[in-house]
Order: sequence, then C-alpha cells, then structure tokens
Amino acid sequence: MYEVFALKYAERDTTACQFFYREASHDTLTLHYFVWLILGGPRPVLVDTGCLDDDARARGMRDYVSPAEMVERAGVKPADVPIALITHLHYDHWAGHSLFPAAEHWIQRDEVAFWTGPFGRSPAFRQSVNPEALARLVALNYADRVRIIDGDREVLPGIGLHRVGGHTPGLQIVTVQTARGTVVLTSDASHFYRNVEKRQPVQILADLPEMLAAFETIEALAGPERLIVAGHDPQVSERFTPIDRGIIRIA
Ligand SMILES: [Zn+2]
Repeated sequence: MYEVFALKYAERDTTACQFFYREASHDTLTLHYFVWLILGGPRPVLVDTGCLDDDARARGMRDYVSPAEMVERAGVKPADVPIALITHLHYDHWAGHSLFPAAEHWIQRDEVAFWTGPFGRSPAFRQSVNPEALARLVALNYADRVRIIDGDREVLPGIGLHRVGGHTPGLQIVTVQTARGTVVLTSDASHFYRNVEKRQPVQILADLPEMLAAFETIEALAGPERLIVAGHDPQVSERFTPIDRGIIRIA
C-alpha cells in the first residue's frame, strides 16, 4: 500500500481578488507551495518538481526550501527519484526539474503543445511559466527523459493520472490507493478547498467549463473518505497530519 506526503517548499501572499475568479474581497490570501511524494511502491514517485530559488526570489515567495531538500528530508535521495508526474508546466510545478537528475517526467500532450504553441507567450499566460525551464523540456525529451501522455493512464498499479485541463490545457491530477482510501492530489485543479467545495474558479485559466468539470472529476474520483489534497491550501496541514517541518502525511 502506498503512503502519500505533501512537502511544502515555500509560501507567498496575494489577495483574494487577484486570485479567485471575479472575486471582490481584498483579503490577504496565503498560498503554500508543495511537491508530493508517493512511497511504499516498487519505487518512489514524485508529483511535480517545484521551482528553484531564482523564481522564489523573483516572485516574492518566503520560507523557500529547495524541493530536493524536502524530498531528502522525507527519506528519498533526489537522484533516486525515477518518475516525476508533472501536473502542468507552470513554473512552480516544473521549474525545479533539474533537482531530480534521474527522473522521467510524465506530462500531458496538450500541456506540451500549449506551452510550445502560439498562445503561451501572450501576456495572459506567460507570467505563469519560466521560459528557460520550458526550453529544457525539449532537450530532456530528446534525452528520453520525458514521457508524453494523452489522457488517463495508470502509472503503477494503484497510481492513476487523470487529464482534467481547465487551469491549463493539459493539467492532470493524480489518484493514489492507500490504506485509508483513495487520495486525490488535485494540484491546481483546486488550489484551495474553496475551489472544489464552493465550485469557485480561479482567474488563471485556459478553459472555464473544463475547470468546472474538473471539480466534478475530483469529487467523483475521491471515495467517501474524501482524501482530497488541494494544491496550494494552508488547510492541507490542518486536514492532514504534519509529521515534521514542512512534511504532511496524507495517508
Ligand atoms: Zn501552482
């Protein structure tokens, strides 16, 4: 049976009106930044790679700890991570890929196509990515270190990828079967619990109906145990069990 951990590597403040879709409140909103680690299988599986300290500094994050260090604190050497499931190519999920030099990165075809296509560079989208980190995707692909997925896929028995789109065209979420039930790692299909629970979108989006459909998919994939892990919500450390600084045991 698998165990799942959320590893927090930074946080940052914004305002609710800057983040939620057509939201009037100017209240401060704190985002936590995570990578997730799945242990207990034949090999460790990482979900997303975070970012490096250059992005952390440039974008006003605080309390940044390298995602590699967080993985190490959780008991896995970063060079021993063979698989990284990349939920999407925004900088805070992809720009840390060089920290995991042996990983094969599993990414949706729609995601690769979008960020290498005509619209990624537009002002509406470009601030969410690190272009140098995106460029390395091509080199990694030619080095046989990228697996491009089209739709839903079983990664290992009990670990599933589900393409939902919405926030980005090829956003995928991850399900993991554990002793406590099905864990759903939503990544940015639901940054906060408020997104999936109140069906409130965020304003960083590629397709609004797909974002709404993703909320339905999250709920359909979660069992009655509702082990839903929102992508950036400080509440993750209240709903689940912190076991060490920045390490939250999900199941
Ligand atoms: Zn994110």
